[in-house]
Amino acid sequence: MNPLPPGSTIGILGGGQLGRMLASAAAELGYRTHILAPDAESVAAQTASSFTRADYHSRIVLDEMAAGCDVVTYEFENIALDPVEYLASNVPVRPAPQALAAAQDRAIEKAFVGKLGGRTAPWRKVTTLDELKDALAVIGAPAILKTLRLGYDGKGQVRIAHAKEAEAAWDAIGGRPAILEGFVSFSHEFSIMLVRGRDGGMVSYPPPWNEHVDGILARSTLPAPQEIALHWAEAAALTGRIADALDYVGVLTCEFFATLDGPVFNEMAPRVHNSGHWTIEGAACSQFENHIRAICGLPLGDTALTGSRVEMENLIGGQVERWQAVLAEPGAHLHLYGKADARPGRKMGHVTRVTR
Ligand code: AMP
Repeated sequence: MNPLPPGSTIGILGGGQLGRMLASAAAELGYRTHILAPDAESVAAQTASSFTRADYHSRIVLDEMAAGCDVVTYEFENIALDPVEYLASNVPVRPAPQALAAAQDRAIEKAFVGKLGGRTAPWRKVTTLDELKDALAVIGAPAILKTLRLGYDGKGQVRIAHAKEAEAAWDAIGGRPAILEGFVSFSHEFSIMLVRGRDGGMVSYPPPWNEHVDGILARSTLPAPQEIALHWAEAAALTGRIADALDYVGVLTCEFFATLDGPVFNEMAPRVHNSGHWTIEGAACSQFENHIRAICGLPLGDTALTGSRVEMENLIGGQVERWQAVLAEPGAHLHLYGKADARPGRKMGHVTRVTR
């Protein structure tokens, strides 16, 4: 298999900040990028070579994309499977659509990871209020009810402190199919970012300690504390088994809870991830460059830390107003995503600090 030569065009489905940073990394390696996204404010279009603003379901647009791109990837996992499968019949799509299928449905995802030997919270799929009540009787409270699909950054989920809250929780998620998860008692959250090449070779990054506020990532810190370091090998091995089972190509992210029993798998994202933004300055080769390298068939890059300590802080909503203060801070690297409206909870940018 020959690598894609520089000058080739990489198609990216999705127009957010992940696509934006992927397009920048691709440009550094001499590739062109083409973004397809429906939103007027597709910030990935600002750093890409070209942009089509269209619905993902238009066959004409997808045919054009397949004809104009040498490989296609995606920057978010909630894209409908159908257009991605259609594209894959005409142009290489990496990671392959089967990775999306596994990550889009929390029940499929947890069953799949359980079969591969991963530890998960106790869980039950629920499709009616009665099933939720039955599941609560088995799993017990406290528990978390999460919609099967389209949940991210803590959206589409509600905590249940007592069994009597079942009805309110069911209403809160709109009575949609869901899973009920037992509450995991953990000391820390962390993630494994693994890169798998076309030849099946793999590298992975040291795991960051991820701190969330209101369900949204606030900070990633490396090296991770001992409670996480203890679980690194086991979590990385599981992520590798997941990648192998999906014949995965690109960056795969798995999120874990560090518990006394070992690492507990929470969820996976078939893409580059917010908890890997630190790799732009904090690793020898960033997650974005490594994703591009993998999908283009290039050798994978070095994942080693560039300093003794690395910290990535998200700028959420109005926090972006601090941009001038960040610029005045020696050694701080500011990344702004080019979004116009700093709505609460919206990821507007991030800051990375590397201590040499
Ligand atoms: P998720 O959307 O599944 O990543 O959940 C968002 C956040 O909710 C996680 O980062 C955790 O902080 C918390 N959380 C999710 N599931 C559980 C669980 N089963 N037990 C305890 N906390 C959880």
